[in-house]
Amino acid sequence: MRIVFTGGAVATVDGHDTEHDTGHVVVDGGRIVAVGAGDAPDSVAGKRIDTRGCLVTPGLVNAHHHLYQWAYRGLATDSTLFEWLVTLYPAWTRMDADVVHAASVAGLARLALTGCTTSTDHHYLFPAGRGDLFGAGIAAAAQVGLRFHPTRGSMDRGTSDGGLPPDEAVERTDDILAATAEAIERYHDPRPDAMLRVGVAPCSPFSVSSRLLADSAELARRYGVRLHTHLAETSDEERQCLAEHGCTPTEYLEGLGWLGGDVWFAHTVHLSAENIKRLAATGSATAHCPSSNARLGAGTSPVRELLDAGTPVGLGVDGPASNEDGGLVTELRQAVLTARGRGGPTAMRIREALRLATMGGARCLGRADDIGSLEVGKLADVAVWRIDDLAHADIADPVAALVLGAAPAVDTLLVGGDPVIEHGSLRTVSAADASRALARQAARMREGVDR
Ligand SMILES: [Zn+2]
Repeated sequence: MRIVFTGGAVATVDGHDTEHDTGHVVVDGGRIVAVGAGDAPDSVAGKRIDTRGCLVTPGLVNAHHHLYQWAYRGLATDSTLFEWLVTLYPAWTRMDADVVHAASVAGLARLALTGCTTSTDHHYLFPAGRGDLFGAGIAAAAQVGLRFHPTRGSMDRGTSDGGLPPDEAVERTDDILAATAEAIERYHDPRPDAMLRVGVAPCSPFSVSSRLLADSAELARRYGVRLHTHLAETSDEERQCLAEHGCTPTEYLEGLGWLGGDVWFAHTVHLSAENIKRLAATGSATAHCPSSNARLGAGTSPVRELLDAGTPVGLGVDGPASNEDGGLVTELRQAVLTARGRGGPTAMRIREALRLATMGGARCLGRADDIGSLEVGKLADVAVWRIDDLAHADIADPVAALVLGAAPAVDTLLVGGDPVIEHGSLRTVSAADASRALARQAARMREGVDR
């Protein structure tokens, strides 16, 4: 069906940052067929949506998440990353497919209501005999209607091998590689309009073996899928890596074949100037997670330096157990404030924050040709934000309303031309039902956890 957005402001995030105070966007057959200044001509047929009082942008792209953690919010609230992990691992090892499904529906619904049309997920815990955990997240994404890039995560290094997670939370290396190959063969869709693509994502240098890292990179390249992991999140990680391997986490991963244009990392907080150079030279991308990093006191990613070096940078919510908000639009404001707090008033422009959350995320996920901007030929992933309410009305700059103002309500959200939100409400799932299902599962998982 042809849909015509007309009458409101448009920020395209194309190569020239083209914006229209009054503009139009026309979508048809799942793709964008026209974008321009002024109202859409009357001759353009289709369902017309009046966007006066709104800002139209590309749908946001979330480049790092752990959806299952929606069931584990509000725990270990004043801890470092390692303390927080050690508190939560036992509860995580009790998860099953019902928890993952309820948490994923709720978490993806929250993402949709904050303007996200494409999300990745990094699921790295697969306790034996608990059902199809990877499939549960995929089923949830199909229900909510978001474009989904789940990664088959993994851990094979428990405490008895010098790792951080308990032994019952990890899998055998060969089992991981077999299950990862199976997930790719079953679910990965390489077509340009894909709603579902699978990546490979061993969890972090301190929870996986060197062999799993090297073999995962080889496996991903054999299948032509993307590679993802946590990198240089905390100074604890850096200290451990220096002690064990005599090099920084970035150097360690480079030695295992992990830098390249098919890789995106989460966090990259603790980087030397040389590390930044290597990330940029190899085209390795990074997902900046400013709220999670601040919540855990992990430090601040040198985003200005990464961008200046030419590294693709996206924005990530990260797991809601370390970012209880779980929404994506709030990360734009957090990214700007964090960057300026660290590097001064010129460290990030507000339009750069919008670019990180759209084209930056698309580059992390290898989808820059398909999504991330409002341009003719791209997939019809569109967010329409209300900026005529008390919190935003009459603001001079609509992009400032989105990035610096209170998080605006999403009036309409399209994924591939299909409505996920209409008139401010989810059309695909019931928010009330999702909350109730999640509450049941979260209460079960929290039993016995020392808050
Ligand atoms: Zn993470």
